[in-house]
Amino acid sequence: MSGSTQAVANTSKDLNMVEKVPFFNYPVLYTKEREKYLEIMDDVLSRGAFIMQKDLEEFESSLVDFTGIKHALGVADCTNGLAIGLRACGIGPGDEVIVPSHTFIASPGSVKLVGATPVLADIGDDCMLDAASVETRITSKTKAIMPVQVNGRCCDMDAMRDVADRHGLMIVEDAAQALGAKYKGTCAGGFGKFGAISFYPAKTLGCFGDGGACVTNDDEIERKMAIQRDHGRYDSDELEDWGTNCRLDNMQAALLNYKMGQYEQEINRRREIARRYQDAFEEISDLTLPIGPNDDPDRFDIFQNYELQADRRDELREYLSEHNIGTLIQWSGRAVHQWKNLGLGTNDLPRTEEFFKKCFLLPMNTLLTDAEVDKVIHTVRTFYGV
Ligand SMILES: *Cc1c(COP(=O)(O)O)cnc(C)c1O
Repeated sequence: MSGSTQAVANTSKDLNMVEKVPFFNYPVLYTKEREKYLEIMDDVLSRGAFIMQKDLEEFESSLVDFTGIKHALGVADCTNGLAIGLRACGIGPGDEVIVPSHTFIASPGSVKLVGATPVLADIGDDCMLDAASVETRITSKTKAIMPVQVNGRCCDMDAMRDVADRHGLMIVEDAAQALGAKYKGTCAGGFGKFGAISFYPAKTLGCFGDGGACVTNDDEIERKMAIQRDHGRYDSDELEDWGTNCRLDNMQAALLNYKMGQYEQEINRRREIARRYQDAFEEISDLTLPIGPNDDPDRFDIFQNYELQADRRDELREYLSEHNIGTLIQWSGRAVHQWKNLGLGTNDLPRTEEFFKKCFLLPMNTLLTDAEVDKVIHTVRTFYGV
């Protein structure tokens, strides 16, 4: 504790120089390496390599090497990636898929996209999809469980696997936020039939627009997803089946492949920032912190987000905002069942309801400087008078 106070004191000179800590600085995503990105774009565009070229294949190989998952397919975005994966698993009208209510609308949205029905389950002590709650939602129509590896952390996948096996269900993963997150050594996306990852700009590996990937260890599912992705084609002009267009742009793939070279370092930086938040806030009883990096031997978290809970959340957010520090409540502040126009209302999600009264995100990304992190820490501590 005295250590973190010391760290704050040492940087008070820098603190005065930081005027603003935006929640996410979109232009800097590009400007920090403008020259390099322009060089890559010029190369790709000059080759006329727009769709399904070697850059995409190289990026897919990088994903396979990095995750240890057998197949990776670049897709247009994670939402449509989830949909082609669900279709590859044979999920459609009449089927139910269990998803957490603490997720982005895209998870249940992908289930709707294939004509199936999303069924919402609650979170557990770890604020992740709870296997016990999942089990209470199973009916004769249930086909799959969709754990969401939210904030770059994996759910309790042993518990999820146990429920799935006992009821003969598939696991399909929304790993949008979790490229490189691990549970007992296995990377997110590698636990069930398939997983989908997002390269939305603010994600841990962000591209300059929309992008995603589907990963799987299953050869048959890989084939079916690839057919879906490219109008029914697999490795020739022959049409294997009906498909759609869900391809990742080759230029985005080239940029992403370059960024993959720095990705491990970026995850380490995120974990370092999380550690500093953790050490600085752990004495504040109003706050409930996420589990810190290295505090759970079963997991390797990549901290897509630093999501915490505060009893005095709204006051704290206002104070931070007055001091030019951006914060965010995920999913526009609402769990899936709280969107009244979508008709997924249920009164039986007490943990999720409680969580959404207190949860919010502090700035967490690799564009943050040490001085900016210090400013966030200092301002939160000042609010609580510690
Ligand atoms: C970002 C996100 C998605 C959607 O990803 P897109 O690539 O934008 O389609 C899905 N699920 C979760 C949990 C996400 O955070």
